[in-house]
Parts: sequence; C-alpha cells; structure tokens
Amino acid sequence: MLNYVEGIALFGNAAFEGSRGVGRERKSPFVRLFTKTPTDVLCPHFYELILSNGCPYDCAYCYLRLTFRGRKEPVVFTNSWQQVQNELDRAGPGVFSTGELADSLAVVPPLLGEAIEYFRGQKQKYLLLTTKSCNVKLFECKAV
Ligand code: SF4
Repeated sequence: MLNYVEGIALFGNAAFEGSRGVGRERKSPFVRLFTKTPTDVLCPHFYELILSNGCPYDCAYCYLRLTFRGRKEPVVFTNSWQQVQNELDRAGPGVFSTGELADSLAVVPPLLGEAIEYFRGQKQKYLLLTTKSCNVKLFECKAV
C-alpha cells in the first residue's frame, strides 16, 4: 500500500512539480451522491468520493476556475482512512468518482492508495478516476 510520500515520489512529474497541494483535515463527508445531473440527461447516478479538491493544470475552459472562490492550489485531505471507509461501507453499490471537483491523479491524494486497495476487494462498488495526467504507475502490476 502506498502512503502519501511514496505516492508523490512515484508520480514525480515536472508538469505539476511544486503543486502537490495543501494538506488538511476534511470536516464534510467524503462520500455523497451526485444529484446535479439534469433531468433530460440519461446518465446513471454516481457517488462523489472526495479525496482532494482542485487541479494544478488550470485549463482555461474548466469549471473548477469558478469553484473554490478562485483558489487554485489543490487541497488534499489528510484524515484517517477509517473515516472514509466507514462512509464507503454505509453507501450502496455504485460508481465512486474522485474526479468531480479535482483531477484524480494530477496531485495524488494521501488517501488514494487505501482507496484503491478497498475497491480491489469490492464486487459492486467501483472506483472512477478521471485525469489528464499520466500518473498511472500506481496501477501497474508488479512482478511476483
Ligand atoms: S485537467 Fe481537468 S480538472 Fe484540471 S483544470 Fe483541466 S479540465 Fe479542469
């Protein structure tokens, strides 16, 4: 399992060097059902799994530019994994996206390694990551 420091080292990437995010405890829930899908859009409901907020890439067309009151530095949450797991265990089956208010991998959330391990053991819960980064080493198979 990766911890935060290992994750950052693995994903060393000049594109976001220096934008590793500000770490802080999250007070709000980590898991919430996304309910903002317009009624005329046929898209299944999903859960947000909020391990971080923001994105260092700052694309000109991105809605995140108008989110978080103009604050651009990503925030990564540093709570205990058990807090997140308790919420995941209570949630029903479905897709859990870490990429609604963040790029999932541009800055690696400290809780992501534990999240990946958790979802590996699930049959009806799926982790959805969305990214424009190439930080995929976490998912490479290791030779045994
Ligand atoms: S990479 Fe994605 S999340 Fe990041 S600024 Fe660009 S559009 Fe937004």
